[in-house]
Amino acid sequence: MKNILIIGGGVIGLSLAYEISQKKKFKVILFEKNKNLGLGATNQNSEVIHSGVYYKNNSLKAKLCVEGKVLIYKFCKKYKILFKKTQKLFIGNSSKDFKLIKRMHKNAKKNNVKDVKIIKQNKIMKLEPSIKAKYALLSKSSGIFDVKSFLKKLYYLCRKNNVKFVFNTKISKGFFKKNKFMFKNTKHHQYDLVINAAGVGAIKIANSTFKTANFPIDKPVWGMYFKTKQDLRVNRIIYPAMSPGKNMERVDISPIISGGYLLGPSVEKKAKINVDDVKLKFVKFLGQIHSNIDIKKIRFLKKGLRPKIETFSKSYTDFYIKKVKHYNWINLFGIESPGLTSCFSIAKYIVRKYL
Ligand SMILES: Cc1cc2nc3c(=O)[nH]c(=O)nc-3n(C[C@H](O)[C@H](O)[C@H](O)COP(=O)(O)OP(=O)(O)OC[C@H]3O[C@@H](n4cnc5c(N)ncnc54)[C@H](O)[C@@H]3O)c2cc1C
Repeated sequence: MKNILIIGGGVIGLSLAYEISQKKKFKVILFEKNKNLGLGATNQNSEVIHSGVYYKNNSLKAKLCVEGKVLIYKFCKKYKILFKKTQKLFIGNSSKDFKLIKRMHKNAKKNNVKDVKIIKQNKIMKLEPSIKAKYALLSKSSGIFDVKSFLKKLYYLCRKNNVKFVFNTKISKGFFKKNKFMFKNTKHHQYDLVINAAGVGAIKIANSTFKTANFPIDKPVWGMYFKTKQDLRVNRIIYPAMSPGKNMERVDISPIISGGYLLGPSVEKKAKINVDDVKLKFVKFLGQIHSNIDIKKIRFLKKGLRPKIETFSKSYTDFYIKKVKHYNWINLFGIESPGLTSCFSIAKYIVRKYL
């Protein structure tokens, strides 16, 4: 039986462990540097199941998001994980926004997201009376789910499938000998395949192992979330109209499965961010799209790193999932949004392509 080492116990490492362990052909061991699973990017997201509207046509993000959302809904139904198909509105007020919405609509269709529809003010007022928008793209397959219970269930299923978990152990440089990898802090066990799913730590591990390889460069950014318990009377996830394929700064309103609303995330280049400055920026934007935002009820919630990468000084906006040439080592870099939605499809993609 081949030994597979997975580095990183975020939603991606865990989904990989789950998918591979179902094959019953491999011994899977997962190393996590923290004392628990899911404390990296997996702990910082909006818990949104994306539908795949705005990712670049033919990108891995587009394909894996569309495949992944179906798998997440199925898993949640099967294992009674709380979820809600809330739907999502991408809204706008100017003619420029309307053009973006039409482009998003086309983009979505090309991405095989069929349940999208352009709607105008009258219909928007009926669906979401508190939202101020002239135009919107309605995405019906967007939703939210309870990520903590989801991770717990995955962990339980992995353990049932004999996946071994080692916590509080940071993996660093790998050594390659006789077709196998070894690491100092894994008691010198030998691994036939390594899957590097260490999130923002992944490029560092790959670089220390393969000194001459040309891996992308880490360019993570900070994201900040706020929360409000004010009843905003919003049922759907609300995003501004966006340019397909481009990452832009925006403020989203996302209902939380356990109650309240998430506001954000912001995109910040520096770690030192003034919370009040970001809050003011958010409130200004939210005031334009919502009829009754109470600034006093908005609280800072969390801040975290979002993995972003660059290749040859250009930002690389797709998921980077590649095997290192001539080595049994697979890297996952830049697994930003919609990584959560795509966790199962990413795992299936790797199994199909490399195992
Ligand atoms: C602000 C924000 C909002 C988002 N919103 C959404 C959303 O609503 N919907 C969606 O689909 N996606 C969303 N995403 C994306 C999603 O959260 C990520 O794509 C996903 O969580 C990535 O999971 P991961 O396992 O790759 O990374 P992580 O969760 O970061 O896991 C990596 C793990 O590796 C461990 N590790 C690192 N280095 C080492 C080492 N040397 N040795 C051992 N372990 C190590 C870390 O401790 C960590 O647990 C969002 C992301 C962010 C940042």
